[in-house]
Amino acid sequence: MLAKCMLCDRIDELDDQSPLAKKLRNRPIHTYLCPTCHDRITERTIERWKTGKFRIHHKRRTKDESLI
Ligand SMILES: [Zn+2]
Repeated sequence: MLAKCMLCDRIDELDDQSPLAKKLRNRPIHTYLCPTCHDRITERTIERWKTGKFRIHHKRRTKDESLI
């Protein structure tokens, strides 16, 4: 199958039997990230974890719990 990277519009051909292709078939095609963009995002995510900016998400979850 062909998958288009949502960030750089690169089109990759994926092996239909690969776990990634199976996953994409169950989701919209635009969720595909090519390995280059995937690595870039993973690096950014790790950096964000280091700076502690992920606390925003945790705060929101705490707020939701307090509404119950
Ligand atoms: Zn890409």
